[in-house]
Amino acid sequence: MPEMLPEPLVALREKTEAFVRDVLVPVEEKLASGANWHDLRDRVVAASTEAGLFTMTHPKSYSGVEVGALALTVVREILAAANLRVASHVFAPGPGVLGTATGALREHYLDPLMRGEKQGSFGFTEPDDAPRPTWATQDGDEIVVTGRKSFVTGGAEADFVSALVSIEPDAEGQGGKAMVVIDLDAPGVTIERKFRSIEGGEHAAIRFEEVRVPRWHVIGNLGEGMPRALGNISAVRLALSATACGCMQWAIAYVTEHIQSPHRSGIPLGNREGVRLRYADMRIEAYAARSMLYRSARLVESGENDVNEVMCTKVYCTEVAGRIVDAAIQLVGGNALTEGHPLERMYREVRSMRFAEGASDILRLNIAKGKLDLNKGIL
Ligand SMILES: Cc1cc2nc3c(=O)[nH]c(=O)nc-3n(C[C@H](O)[C@H](O)[C@H](O)COP(=O)(O)OP(=O)(O)OC[C@H]3O[C@@H](n4cnc5c(N)ncnc54)[C@H](O)[C@@H]3O)c2cc1C
Repeated sequence: MPEMLPEPLVALREKTEAFVRDVLVPVEEKLASGANWHDLRDRVVAASTEAGLFTMTHPKSYSGVEVGALALTVVREILAAANLRVASHVFAPGPGVLGTATGALREHYLDPLMRGEKQGSFGFTEPDDAPRPTWATQDGDEIVVTGRKSFVTGGAEADFVSALVSIEPDAEGQGGKAMVVIDLDAPGVTIERKFRSIEGGEHAAIRFEEVRVPRWHVIGNLGEGMPRALGNISAVRLALSATACGCMQWAIAYVTEHIQSPHRSGIPLGNREGVRLRYADMRIEAYAARSMLYRSARLVESGENDVNEVMCTKVYCTEVAGRIVDAAIQLVGGNALTEGHPLERMYREVRSMRFAEGASDILRLNIAKGKLDLNKGIL
C-alpha cells in the first residue's frame, strides 16, 4: 500500500498533491467557466514540465526523468483521485512500442514522436468480420500490408500507426508476426470511420490495401510482434490499474461526504445500516485493489516476470472501480446520472477500462493459460 513508500516517493506524493491543489484545480475551474481548452492544456503542460512531472514517462536519453513503475503508480493514482479533466495533460506521451527502436526508425519516428513533432497510434484490434488478421507479403526491401484495424485511439489525427501484422514467410521461410510502423498518409491507407467512445476518447477504423512499407519500418525482428505489442500493453495495464484505483478513491470520498450530509428523510443516509453495509463493501474492495496495485508495481520494479500479475491487477482494479462507481451512483441517487455530474463522467470512464488494453474475459483466459499451459506467475 502507498503508506509503506520510501522517502523519495513520499516526497513525490506530496509534490503531486500540491500540484493538483495549486495548478490543476484552478485550471479545471477555468475550464468549467468556459476558458479555451488549448490554452489551458498549454498551461498544464508548462506547469507539469516545471514540476518535473511531464517527462516522467520519457527515457533519460530523451531528457526524461524515467522513473520506475512504483513512482508512476503513485502519481497516476493521485491524479485520477482528483477526478479532473485537465489531468490528462500532465504526462507527455511515452515512446510506446517504439521504445527500443534504433537507426532510421528511431531517427524518423521515435525522435520526432518524443519531440512532439509527430503523433503515433497503436493498431492491434481487428474487426469481427476480418477474413484474416492484417497480413503482409514480402517484396525485396518492402513489405506489402493488407487488412484492417478497427479501434485505433487517436488514429484520425496521428501521423503513423504501429500495427501488429502477420508477415508471410519468404523463400527462406523467414516470417511471422511483427509490429510495423505505417504512415497514415501512405497510398493504400484509408481512415474508414472516425468515432468516439463513451469516456470521450477519439478513435479511427483504418483499412490497408496493399500498402507498400519499407522493411526498416518493422520494429525488431520478424516473429517478435506479439511480445513487443504485449510488452507495452503490460505497462499501460498497470497505468490503467492505478487510474482505476484513483477513481475509486474519489468516488468513495464523494460518497463519504454525501452520506454524512443532511437527507430529506431527516436522517443522514450514513446512519442507516443498509447504507453502511454497502459503504463498507466499497472500502473493502478498494483496500484489496490498492494493495494489489502496489504489490504489482513493486514486482514490476523488481524485474521479475510480471505479465500474469499485471493482468490480474488490471482485471481486478478496473472491475472494482466499476462496482464502486456504480454503488456510489446508487447511493447518491438519480442526480448522479445527470449529464455533467462528476460521477456520470467517471462511470463512463471506468466502463471503458474493462475493454482497453485487453477485455476482462480475455485476460482471464490468459491468466489461466499462464499457469496451466506455461507455468508462469507467482500470484
Ligand atoms: C477506450 C478504448 C480505447 C481503445 N484503444 C485501442 C487502441 O488504441 N488500439 C487497439 O488496437 N485497440 C483499442 N481498443 C480496443 C480494445 O483493445 C478491444 O475492445 C478489446 O481488446 C476487446 O476486443 P473486441 O472489442 O474486438 O472484443 P472481442 O474480442 O470480440 O470480445 C468481446 C467479448 O467476447 C468474449 N470473448 C471474446 N473472445 C473470447 C474467447 N476466446 N473466450 C471467451 N470469451 C471470449 C468476451 O466476453 C469479450 O469481452 C480500445 C478500446 C476502448 C474501449
